Amino acid sequence: MSDHDQSLWLKTCREHAETCPLTDETSVDLAVIGGGYTGCSAALTAARAGASVCLLEAHEIGHGGSGRNVGLANAGLWLPPDEIRAHLGEEAGDRLISLLAGAPADVFDLIERHGIDCEPVRNGTLHCAHSGSGLRAMQARHTQLMASGAPVELLSAVQTTYRTGSARFHGALFDPRAGTIQPLGYVRGLARAAAEAGARIVSQCPVETMQHEDGIWMLNTPQGRVRAKSVIQATNAYHQGLHASTPDYVPVYYFQFSTAPLSENLRASILPGGEGCWDTGLIMTSFRMDAEGRLVIGAMGDLGQAGRLIHTAWIRRKLSELFPQLADQPLIEGWHGRIAMTSDHLPKITQIGLNAYSVHGYSGRGIGPGTVFGRMVAESLLNEDPSLLPVPAVSDYHENWTGLRRAYFETGAALTHFIKARF
Ligand SMILES: Cc1cc2nc3c(=O)[nH]c(=O)nc-3n(C[C@H](O)[C@H](O)[C@H](O)COP(=O)(O)OP(=O)(O)OC[C@H]3O[C@@H](n4cnc5c(N)ncnc54)[C@H](O)[C@@H]3O)c2cc1C
Repeated sequence: MSDHDQSLWLKTCREHAETCPLTDETSVDLAVIGGGYTGCSAALTAARAGASVCLLEAHEIGHGGSGRNVGLANAGLWLPPDEIRAHLGEEAGDRLISLLAGAPADVFDLIERHGIDCEPVRNGTLHCAHSGSGLRAMQARHTQLMASGAPVELLSAVQTTYRTGSARFHGALFDPRAGTIQPLGYVRGLARAAAEAGARIVSQCPVETMQHEDGIWMLNTPQGRVRAKSVIQATNAYHQGLHASTPDYVPVYYFQFSTAPLSENLRASILPGGEGCWDTGLIMTSFRMDAEGRLVIGAMGDLGQAGRLIHTAWIRRKLSELFPQLADQPLIEGWHGRIAMTSDHLPKITQIGLNAYSVHGYSGRGIGPGTVFGRMVAESLLNEDPSLLPVPAVSDYHENWTGLRRAYFETGAALTHFIKARF
């Protein structure tokens, strides 16, 4: 049994994405590699525009980050607006900020339009200050977001206690644009909607190699081949095969555990407004409720490594620190996923050939951005207009010391959790 098989999202997902087999050779306008938010959003956009599309997924739809994440549909990226502008320049920065400010609305609109069964709750998110320095960072972020026109609100410690049900925070930044979803339900629903619009969705079909010859891409899989005018590679942190176009990023692991459905009394004492939360800790923690009243709590760390024992002991302690009333609650499901982190925390679009882009590096913010990037990259390719891309494409993207930096993050998380777990 893999770590993904023990995910709450697999257990409670009510959406189903019908897939079809790939046999012999097929020709399409657009081939999409990867069945996560980016790939499914691209396939849905292209199919709705009347293009012929084939999406190839190596495992099941939602096998990657899209089926494993926390489900916080946030507005924007990790970076506050000023840092986005500093990296991209004023014009490109402002454009990206504005596109991603509308990303949660795009997600919730798609859910409504296609009747996606994914527990959407549009009650905002709380970015909780875990310390005095965390509160100061929140105040600075609040000022920048307000200047960019975002309707965010800075909450006092007392208000945060009331909203979260935990007395551990120094304050919080409330963003009413955001919300929570059942992440696997959302990606399966996007794939279903794409299939209904005419896209061919193929699972258990890894693309092993691809070549560009005489103006046409040829994608080779164990089942058959796809000829395509354009290609989107949307494999992010779960890329496999296709060595010539492997995306470069630092892999960072994040794990989650869920309780059983809580009693009505307990439920009423935690997140009564239904917001999704994460904190300002360097080794951050997140928590949210699901539709049946389970608390889902997570933090940075790899459950597949020797650190499993440490991370599990720490999360139990953290749960009882945040919510003493849950100290005896057993943790039922536990799973983890891999995040594709870039040095500047900005997603990358790489041109991997003529009419072919690879998209990766959402750095832990892929629900809204993946939906938007998938849509816009598809529109750009179908209209042969690079100005429609959400950020300019680069011809190559390289990260230094990825192995070392991965070890740094995992060791840092394990050490922090070891010290705080107090075995
Ligand atoms: C634990 C965790 C928590 C997170 N929490 C949040 C959150 O709360 N909010 C948020 O906005 N973001 C969050 N993220 C980030 C978000 O989940 C990702 O950025 C997003 O899912 C990326 O989507 P994607 O479609 O680009 O890639 P993925 O969903 O990873 O999909 C890539 C797919 O490509 C397939 N693939 C790979 N190689 C091939 C091949 N050769 N042929 C065919 N298919 C292939 C893989 O099997 C995979 O299914 C989190 C991520 C993790 C891991």
